[in-house]
Amino acid sequence: MTGTAIEKTDAVIVGCGVAGGLLAGRLAKDGYRVVVLEKRPEIGVPVRCGEAAGSREEISPFIPVDDRWVVAQINAARMYAPDETFVEKRFPGVGLMIKRDRFDQALAKQASEWGAEIRTHHEVVAVARENGRICGVAVINHNDNTRYMIEAKVTVGADGVEGCVGRLSGLTRHLKLKEIHAGLEYLLEGDGFPTDTIEIYVGRSVAPGGYVWVFPKGHRLANVGVGVLPTMAKTDTAKTYLDRFVDKHFPNAKRKALIAGGVSGTKPLKTMVDDGVLLVGEAARHNNPFSGGGIMNALEGAEEAHRVMVEALKENDLSRRSLQRYDKAWHKRNGRLIHKFALLRELFFKLEDDDMNKVISVLGKIAAAQSGKITDYTELFGAAFKTTPGVLWKARKMLW
Ligand SMILES: Cc1cc2nc3c(=O)[nH]c(=O)nc-3n(C[C@H](O)[C@H](O)[C@H](O)COP(=O)(O)OP(=O)(O)OC[C@H]3O[C@@H](n4cnc5c(N)ncnc54)[C@H](O)[C@@H]3O)c2cc1C
Repeated sequence: MTGTAIEKTDAVIVGCGVAGGLLAGRLAKDGYRVVVLEKRPEIGVPVRCGEAAGSREEISPFIPVDDRWVVAQINAARMYAPDETFVEKRFPGVGLMIKRDRFDQALAKQASEWGAEIRTHHEVVAVARENGRICGVAVINHNDNTRYMIEAKVTVGADGVEGCVGRLSGLTRHLKLKEIHAGLEYLLEGDGFPTDTIEIYVGRSVAPGGYVWVFPKGHRLANVGVGVLPTMAKTDTAKTYLDRFVDKHFPNAKRKALIAGGVSGTKPLKTMVDDGVLLVGEAARHNNPFSGGGIMNALEGAEEAHRVMVEALKENDLSRRSLQRYDKAWHKRNGRLIHKFALLRELFFKLEDDDMNKVISVLGKIAAAQSGKITDYTELFGAAFKTTPGVLWKARKMLW
C-alpha cells in the first residue's frame, strides 16, 4: 500500500459480529489496545440469521441477558419428516430467540465501554506481512474513501463466512459448493406460528441437503427460512423451496423481509493460527455443520481465543507455536462434537425421503423413551440410524 498512514495496536480484530465483539471487549478489559474494523456501516445490519441462540444460562457468562434483544424463550423443538410426521422434545428454557442486530450491537457496546475502539464502514482489503509473519492489515475507510494500515502484534479474522483474513493468510480457502448452504429467510407476519417451539422440516423434497426452519419471534412474527446444499438442489433455487414451503404452510402470512446468506457446513479447521494471526467464529468454521448454528460457537471460540491471546501478549510471543494453544484448547472443548455433527450431516441430509421418514419415526420412539434434556444429539441420531432397518447399510455406502 502506498501513501498510507500507519498506526500501531496490540490487536486488530477484523469483523464486529458475535466473535469479534466479544473478543474485543475481553481483550480491552484486560488493558490491551484493540481496534475493531467492521465493513458494514451499522453493526449487525442487515440481520442474516435465524436468530435462535442458547439459553439464558449459556449466554449470560458472555453478556448480561437483556430483554431489549430477547424476543421469545424456546421450550421445545420439533423435527418434521418429509411425510410431515414429527418428533417433538420439550426442554423448557433450552434457548432464546433474539434480535440479532441488537445482540451484536450490545456486544459491541460492551466492548467499547471496556475500551475497544470500533470503526464501522472500515473494510480490510489485505493483510501485511513482515518476515513471513502477519503484522497487520490494510483498510479502506468507506466513510471518507481513505486508505490506511494498522500494524498489530496479532491480527484476528473474526470476519465470518465470507471473511478474507483466513484466505489472505493462507489458513483457509474458498468454500466449495458442497461445503456451503445457501440460506434464505423471510420474516413473516401472520397467524399460526409456534410461540415457544422451534420447528425444523427435513427431506430432499423440502430442502435438499439442509432443512426449513420456523422460528418464533413473538408478536405474530416468525423467521421462516431454508438452507439448501447447491450441489443437491440441482434444478430449483433456495427461493423456490422457500416460497413453496411458505405457500403451503403460511399462505396468508405477510412477507415483511427477505434475507440471504451462506452458512458453512465443513469440518473445523485443523489449525486456526499462524505467526501473528488467528481466526475465530465462522471464519474458523466454528459453526455446527449439522444445524448451521454458530452464535454460541462464536462466543465460545472467542472465549478460548481471548484466554490464549492474553497469555501470548503477556509473553510477547505471538508466534504460530505460541498461538497453537488456542487450536488445542478449542479442539478439546468443541472439536470432537463438531466432527460428530459433520459426520451426521454427511449421513442424514443425504438420505432419501423414505429413509428419512423411517429414521425420524425411530427417533421419535427413542426420544419418547428418554426423560429429561437431550445432551448429545449425535448419540440420539446414531441410535436411530443403527435401529432403522437398512439405513445403516446405506449410510455406510455414503461414507466409504
Ligand atoms: C440465513 C442464516 C441463518 C442463520 N441462523 C442461525 C441461527 O438461528 N442460530 C445460530 O446460532 N446461527 C445461525 N446462523 C449462523 C450465524 O449467523 C453465524 O454462525 C454467526 O454469525 C457467526 O458469527 P461470527 O462472529 O463468526 O461472524 P459474523 O456474525 O458473520 O460476523 C462477521 C463480521 O465481519 C464483517 N466482515 C467481513 N469481512 C470483513 C472485512 N473484510 N472487513 C471488515 N469487516 C468484515 C461482517 O460484516 C460481519 O459483521 C445463520 C446464518 C445464516 C446465513
